Amino acid sequence: MQGLDIPDAAISGIDILVSEVGPRDGLQSVSQIMPTETKKAWINAEAAAGVREIEVGSFVPASILPQLADTAEIVAHALTIPGLTVAVLVPNMRGAVAAIEAGAHKITLPLSVSETHSLRNLRRTHDQVLAEAKEIAGLIATLPAERRPHFEGSLSTAFGCTLEGPIPDAQIARLAEGLMAAGCDEVGISDTTGYADPAAVKRLIALLHGVVGVQALTGIHLHNTRGLGLANALAALDCGLTTLDSSLGGLGGCPFAPGASGNIVTEDLVFMLEAMGLRTGIDIDRLTAVRDILCRAMPGEPLYGFIPDAGLPLGFNTAGARRIKEAS
Ligand code: ZN
Repeated sequence: MQGLDIPDAAISGIDILVSEVGPRDGLQSVSQIMPTETKKAWINAEAAAGVREIEVGSFVPASILPQLADTAEIVAHALTIPGLTVAVLVPNMRGAVAAIEAGAHKITLPLSVSETHSLRNLRRTHDQVLAEAKEIAGLIATLPAERRPHFEGSLSTAFGCTLEGPIPDAQIARLAEGLMAAGCDEVGISDTTGYADPAAVKRLIALLHGVVGVQALTGIHLHNTRGLGLANALAALDCGLTTLDSSLGGLGGCPFAPGASGNIVTEDLVFMLEAMGLRTGIDIDRLTAVRDILCRAMPGEPLYGFIPDAGLPLGFNTAGARRIKEAS
């Protein structure tokens, strides 16, 4: 199996890997441009709070997403943080080349299971994206083993598309198989539109585990557009997934649902997991304090989350929560 170069710290000593996507997914959804030094401070502070994986940017042309124009510099910085897995999004081969050059540990290529959405967003048909995935995997295979990034193909709009509605199971299964056949190490699923519910999450994971195998689908990217983000996360845990994407403060919000966070909120997700005795390696108080960096840098940008407002329950600390469980 390729792509075993993710630092051990990212997967050891924890039960669930919380992958922070705010610096990419959050920032690409807000119009303000965060200064490079602020992004670095944000990433430093989250890593210091115990976050093991951060999607730090996307290698897209600056003309499309000026918010992420400094991704190469951010990757270079993030690589200096011991134990942190540095992930980036790449829309195509050109982005993958830049990501590999920068030294990212993990690259994610999105493939929208809705072909209409794929044409609209990536201006590519399914066959074109699959061909690009094969090219990227081919490039990775030419690298020395220690320089190969983990290569994930992410099935976006997996729970339905705002343009096409529900996407047939057979089509999603065929695309998952196609990504693996192209040479991806793994597929991920993404509820881009916030259409998922816990039953749909369980059904789709079971379907895809049957198609690509349990080892080849371990992570999910969920949104909270309709308030089901954490319920969906719980459903994914029940199916054995071990990586959950989220963003600090739900940064970026949801353009279709004012008042709702886009991505699930990292602070609330970590609280749920730790309260359940699942180790994330993350200190919730230190994580919550990182919001100050965002508040100062982006005044007026709404942040979401219940834990930052309500605080932790009296007597709650992550180690304590586990000790109580072990004792009982
Ligand atoms: Zn998202």
